[in-house]
Amino acid sequence: MGGQVSSVEGVHVVVVGGGFGGIAAAQQLKSQGLSFTLIDMRDAFHHNVASLRASVQPGFAQRTFIPYAETFGDSFVQGRVERVDTSTQTVVLQGGREIQYSHLILCTGTDGPFPGKFNTVASYQTAVQAYEDFVKQIQAANSVLVVGGGSTGVEMAAEIKTEYPEKKVVLIHSRIGLCDSELLPSVRQQAKEVLLEKGVELLLGHKVSDLSELPLNVTRRNTVVTTDKGQSLTTDLIICCTGLKVNSAAYTSGFSSSMADNGALKVNPHLQVQGFSNVFAVGDCADIQEPKMAYHAGLHAAVAVNNIIKSVSGKTLTSYQTGSVTMLLAMGRDDGVGQFNGVRLPRFLVTLGKSRDLLLWKSWKEMRQTQP
Ligand SMILES: Cc1cc2nc3c(=O)[nH]c(=O)nc-3n(C[C@H](O)[C@H](O)[C@H](O)COP(=O)(O)OP(=O)(O)OC[C@H]3O[C@@H](n4cnc5c(N)ncnc54)[C@H](O)[C@@H]3O)c2cc1C
Repeated sequence: MGGQVSSVEGVHVVVVGGGFGGIAAAQQLKSQGLSFTLIDMRDAFHHNVASLRASVQPGFAQRTFIPYAETFGDSFVQGRVERVDTSTQTVVLQGGREIQYSHLILCTGTDGPFPGKFNTVASYQTAVQAYEDFVKQIQAANSVLVVGGGSTGVEMAAEIKTEYPEKKVVLIHSRIGLCDSELLPSVRQQAKEVLLEKGVELLLGHKVSDLSELPLNVTRRNTVVTTDKGQSLTTDLIICCTGLKVNSAAYTSGFSSSMADNGALKVNPHLQVQGFSNVFAVGDCADIQEPKMAYHAGLHAAVAVNNIIKSVSGKTLTSYQTGSVTMLLAMGRDDGVGQFNGVRLPRFLVTLGKSRDLLLWKSWKEMRQTQP
């Protein structure tokens, strides 16, 4: 990124959303000495990559939330952004507080079902407790049905079966192929093999009927579930791992003409939002043709911050380039599958690199705090 720039007069960057993209952007702005405000509706960063482990291991959840204020001090503001007024360059929070920006980085990410995501506005303690309570629900169930065989569902099923091998775990998926379609077929096949080795039962090509009417995340003995193909099964606990949606509420009013159909923000190669040279989109809410990943959100953040610095000093902006897919799947704490730059990795390497700690160390280091 080049040398540190001292605080530039008239420059105040507002970062909306403190997920993987937001904390990376804020940390880089801080180390560059630029004036910034990071806004998130919660008081702690959620390392949701480790949320599935926090769902099965008692005591783990406290490692998956990292308080913002200790890292960013007064540069962090807790609040829900309700809208952005692009004419006055103001971000408006619930309750009416307004914060002005010279440059804006939008990184509001995606929402999805618990436990993969935790979307509730809650204190650090309440958030941690929600996962501890959920561990008890899993412990109380003799059988668990995981709905959705994308990467989250696959990891969830593997986590449960690894921690509680005696439980019956069924993974139901509407398609035949598991995991993200961007992964190499051999990696997807390997994920399936690991699940079968662990004893997870697969029900592929079936969709749960009336999912919205079933009890989720709470143990209810012998709940009957039917599929669109007329098959029924009983289970004690149903966990939904489908349905991520772009979190566009913060910017819909100000940027409706720059939004793709799914709510993501259309960006140019410099990650500037279409029609706005001082507004950048980073992470899951940026409309970029690549898998939605924390890893990518961090790369986007570096480009956005770099380009803010370059634009202030009149230099040519950097472009973001998508590369071959790198994705690692933790199949419980003792196994893993994945690929690096389009090349399949041995299982032991993924286990060492990702599955044991789920890259928690990286976020605690980035936040300059000590992991409990
Ligand atoms: C279970 C699971 C496992 C995953 N594993 C991996 C993995 O191993 N590797 C990987 O690279 N990726 C993984 N991902 C994907 C990864 O989590 C996302 O790509 C990443 O979180 C995107 O980061 P982000 O900063 O764009 O958004 P998010 O992490 O979604 O953060 C958005 C933030 O914005 C805040 N926010 C939203 N709206 C508002 C508002 N109106 N006002 C204030 N604040 C707001 C939210 O509170 C949140 O903190 C996984 C995802 C899931 C669900």
